[in-house]
Amino acid sequence: MSLAPLSSALVLEEVLPLAGRVADEVVATHASAVDTHGRFPEEALAVLGASGLLGIISAADVGGSGLSLRAAVDVVERVARACGSTGMITCMHYSATAVLEALGPRQPGLEGVRRDIAAGRHLSTLAFSEVGSRSHFWAPLSTARADGDNVVLDARKSWVTSSRRADSFVWSSKPIEGEGASTLWLVPNRSAGLSVPAPFDGLGLRGNDSTAVNADGVRIPVANRLGADGVGFDLMMGTVLPWFAALSAGVSVGIMEAATQKAAAHCAGTGFAHLGANLGDLPTIRAYLARMRIRTDQARTLLDDTVTAITTGRPDTMLRVLEVRASAAENSLEVTELAMRVCGGAAFRKEVGVDRAFRDARAAGVMAPTTDVLYDFVGKALVGLPLF
Ligand SMILES: Cc1cc2nc3c(=O)[nH]c(=O)nc-3n(C[C@H](O)[C@H](O)[C@H](O)COP(=O)(O)OP(=O)(O)OC[C@H]3O[C@@H](n4cnc5c(N)ncnc54)[C@H](O)[C@@H]3O)c2cc1C
Repeated sequence: MSLAPLSSALVLEEVLPLAGRVADEVVATHASAVDTHGRFPEEALAVLGASGLLGIISAADVGGSGLSLRAAVDVVERVARACGSTGMITCMHYSATAVLEALGPRQPGLEGVRRDIAAGRHLSTLAFSEVGSRSHFWAPLSTARADGDNVVLDARKSWVTSSRRADSFVWSSKPIEGEGASTLWLVPNRSAGLSVPAPFDGLGLRGNDSTAVNADGVRIPVANRLGADGVGFDLMMGTVLPWFAALSAGVSVGIMEAATQKAAAHCAGTGFAHLGANLGDLPTIRAYLARMRIRTDQARTLLDDTVTAITTGRPDTMLRVLEVRASAAENSLEVTELAMRVCGGAAFRKEVGVDRAFRDARAAGVMAPTTDVLYDFVGKALVGLPLF
């Protein structure tokens, strides 16, 4: 794919067409091999970086496009249509970048990393989930110990997307001291003491490189602390949760859109020669396709409303944030299950390509906060109980 040299920031109107070109011409080309071999989508990430798309939410004063959550959701959805793995890697990168951008103006020490992200030469991700507290990411058990101008981190992280390819992690630990639930850190991936015990071999999102990561005496400057000691929980709830919820719902919507379009095309063009009819001539098949379209559009509409709520500070924002992931994850299970059904054995034999969507869709519901935890949170909000 030929790209104009990245000389200036992207404006909003350029983002979606550019994301569409990158998705169709690069991401989609490698998606099947990424899935089959469980390999990281290097080609796609290189072009996402070179095109400026990885830097769209970075502030203009560090060389980024200064665009909002809506633009990031648009990119992630369009990329995930072509490849769920690449969509989720991009989702995690923007989620981590949102933290750095939220703190950046108050932490001049972050400027170098922020400039690199804006220029598309630095990939970041979240390293929250741990072996001990599992999907309860808000309760890290890993530790941070002060040692002069440094801090020493020890951890057993259970899942980190892009673990071997990211340049940095937005990392959680218990506070060094004090009462808060956690403290966040920017941990360079080249730090001595980081290790990956085993490669990732997942059911879906197979190109994600979502491995466990161990930290044994990892030493980073104390200046890499993100916010004050003990305020990690506030950053998780105030910044990471809304961004990750909307972006990850965007991945689910992209996967649903791909499954719906591929299934409809298969049913419209695949015939019973002895009957002179197509699959799409069967009313049952048409009704299933209609359910897929409706579920996909429901999820997209709720996502659109959630982004509006977040970006305008609407009073119902937290409820929408909790709802949007649960809804998108559940709808994507149903849509991709129906895609497998209407495409029959052709789908089972991987001829249609909806099997990848079926497998990729299964991650959203178990990524934290998981769908069942979200149902609990929404229920607590409804009956007036505190979430934690
Ligand atoms: C593809 C993929 C990529 C990931 N990438 C990252 C990443 O980049 N960074 C990161 O930090 N993490 C990442 N994760 C981890 C993710 O966020 C979860 O922490 C992880 O999937 C939880 O798996 P577990 O086996 O520990 O679940 P468990 O915590 O053991 O949960 C098992 C079941 O119990 C349910 N459950 C747990 N608590 C409750 C509750 N209170 N109420 C009701 N039900 C409950 C869950 O919903 C689930 O159904 C990734 C996960 C996947 C699958």
